[in-house]
Order: sequence, then structure tokens, then C-alpha cells
Amino acid sequence: MDWTTLKGFRDPERARAVVRGVRQELERVDRRLGRKLRLMEVCGTHTVSFSRSGVRSLLGDLVELVSGPGCPVCVTDQADIDAMIETARLPGVIVTTFGDMMRVPGSRTTLQQERTRGADVRVVYSPLDALKVAEERPEATVVFLGVGFETTAPAVAHALLEAEARRLRNFAVLSAHKYTPPAVRALLAAGGAQLDGFVLPGHVSVVTGTDGWRFLAREFGLPGVVTGFEPLDLLAGVGELASLVAEGRAEVRNAYPRTVQEHGNPHAQELIRRVFRPAEAVWRGLGPIPESGMAIAGAFAAYDARKRLELELPPSRVPPGCRCGDVLQGKILPTGCRLFAVACRPERPIGPCMVSSEGACAAYYQYEPEAVEAALAAVRRGPGGAGTRPTGARAAAPVGGSGEGA
Ligand code: SF4
Ligand code: SF4
Repeated sequence: MDWTTLKGFRDPERARAVVRGVRQELERVDRRLGRKLRLMEVCGTHTVSFSRSGVRSLLGDLVELVSGPGCPVCVTDQADIDAMIETARLPGVIVTTFGDMMRVPGSRTTLQQERTRGADVRVVYSPLDALKVAEERPEATVVFLGVGFETTAPAVAHALLEAEARRLRNFAVLSAHKYTPPAVRALLAAGGAQLDGFVLPGHVSVVTGTDGWRFLAREFGLPGVVTGFEPLDLLAGVGELASLVAEGRAEVRNAYPRTVQEHGNPHAQELIRRVFRPAEAVWRGLGPIPESGMAIAGAFAAYDARKRLELELPPSRVPPGCRCGDVLQGKILPTGCRLFAVACRPERPIGPCMVSSEGACAAYYQYEPEAVEAALAAVRRGPGGAGTRPTGARAAAPVGGSGEGA
């Protein structure tokens, strides 16, 4: 089957034929490896789409799909979250942010809680909206919280260039932007991930191109397939990966050619290069990774909130028991966290993976009712019951990982 030329990606007839094809390929892998295929999705939207579309459960007997460091909110280090919250507490500062950040728990409080205490925190839909706030409020310093990957960074770079062109001096960006390929490289270099391949992010790859992922095959001998977000895109991605593994071929392929080009988007890449410089960044779970962060370049230092604001931060702490760091490395599924669906729920999240709309725990909570039910049943059985956590196939806890939580 030619996975890259799928058309009519919402056609049910075609879907049934594709599912049959994918299952055949996965069975081939099973015969070759003597076990299920184990893939990592490196995009929060893929995590959500696999659950929402039912593809995760449809293929769950033949493929294990684990999440990776693919949600920009989830991978933001606790110290960076604290810095953002602390910024909102400074007098004369207006913080502007995408909505996902509002409820992310810092070490002591959240942006939302600070807003109820009087901080001026505003949700914006684009960095240019933040510029507008800066124009309207010249007496305040307006800080935009820059959280995102290669997809978001060009828009922030554009806003910063606009601020310079308009001579807006009361605008600053607190950059926690990150490059995704270095995180995947670090995850693999650390070993222990036990993966057979990667479902590569559709949107990030629009900017990086398939080229940005060639290192997977070159350095680690692993296949990767850039994939879109519709159910048939997901199936095509898994099908192509299964074919590659069944044939023992480590290649990086593009199953999303209607959007992603080999060399990516040079204009977006140029915007990133002009405004940011690669710097070490700390990732939740993965720790510090060289050249994985986008710091604001020296020429734009006047717009760098980290340089302009004097933040005094007490040490950060991750909520006790939260295993977002392990979820983000594919070491456990969300159901492997003892707090999942019990103490940690979307209305009262303990970790960022339950807050973000692209978070793995939120995706499981919303679209995998069996996993939620299994977690609650385990609690009803109590500590003496047979197994205190879900034991079903899809609710399995560690995936070659660190076992029990804190
Ligand atoms: S920014 Fe795009 S590629 Fe990244 S997690 Fe979100 S949807 Fe996926
Ligand atoms: S269930 Fe909650 S506490 Fe546990 S890993 Fe997920 S977000 Fe973190």
C-alpha cells in the first residue's frame, strides 16, 4: 500500500481498507519482533487525536503508542512556570499569555490564582494581540509568555520585530520556546526509551521539514514518519512505520506531503534565526538539554523579559506524586500515575499534563473512559485489592520505565 498518497481521509470505506492494511503490517512486525510494535508520538495534538479518533484503542492489541515531549505547556520546567507566575506578581506588569498556561500549577500558585488576587493577566490569541495591549497601556510593561515549539516561535519573532519597528519599548517576551528535535535526540541518547519508531509531528515539521528528523535514522537507526492529524493520517503514519520496521529499514518518511515539505518553511526558519539564538533549556522530565531552547538574541535584549525584570525565585518544587516527567518521556502511560483520575482531574489538575489541551493525561481522561474507570475501580478496591492500579491492556502502567511513582 502506498501510505503517502492517501486521499479522502475521512471516507469510511477507505478507512476500513486502511485499517485492514495497517493490521496486516502490524502482524508482520509482531512475527518479526515477537512482540507489539512500540511507537512514540512527538506531538500533543497527535496524542489527543489518537485517543479522540479511537485509533489508539483500535490498534491497541498490536501497537503500543506512548507520548513523548510533544506538548509545549507540559514540557515547560517548573522553574520557568514559577518565573512566569512571579512576573505576573510584579507591580506595573501586565502578563499576556495563551489560555493553556492559566491553570498550570507552579510550585505555589497559578496565573489564574494570581489574577483573582489582583494581578493583571490577560489571555490573548496571538502575540500581536499582546503588542496591542502594550500600545494601549504605555505606562505598563507588557510581558508575553512565549511557550511553544517551532510552530509558535515564528509568530512571536514577528511580533518582536513589529515591536521594534513601532518603537514599542514597553513590550517584552519571556521566552520558554523550544526546539523539538534536540529533545528527541536527548531522550534517545539517555537510553531506556525502548522504541521502534516515531510518529513525527505534523505542525512542527511544517517548519523543520522532514530534514529536521533525519538524525533518527542516521544516529539511532530508527524510522520516523511525519504524520497529519485526521484518523486516516494517523493510520497511514502507523502503517508506514510498521512497514519500515517489518522490512528492517530505518528511514524518515513523510506521510503528510499535502502540508510538509522536505526542507520545511525557510521564511519561518529565518524569523526564528533572526530573533532567537539556540540556548540550553530545561525540559520537564528530561532536564537541561543543550541548544534546545530559543533565547532572545543579543540584538533584541531590550525585549528580553528575563534580562529586564529582576525576578527573585525561591526553589521550585514539583507536586508530590506527579509523574508528568515520566509521562513525557514515554516511561509510563498517564494511567501509570497514581494520581490519574483520582486526585488529579481536569477540574483540579495537579500536573501540567492534565491541564493542557494537548496533555497526555487530559487526553486519556477525556477520551479513554476505560482507563478512567480502571483507575477509579482500583481506588474503590483499596490498597489491599488485587492490584492498586489499572491492569487492562491499554491501562498498563510502566512502558519500559521507572515503575512506581513518588
Ligand atoms: S504545536 Fe503543533 S506539532 Fe507541536 S504539539 Fe502542538 S500541534 Fe503538535
Ligand atoms: S495524572 Fe496528573 S499528576 Fe499524574 S502525571 Fe498526569 S498530570 Fe501529572
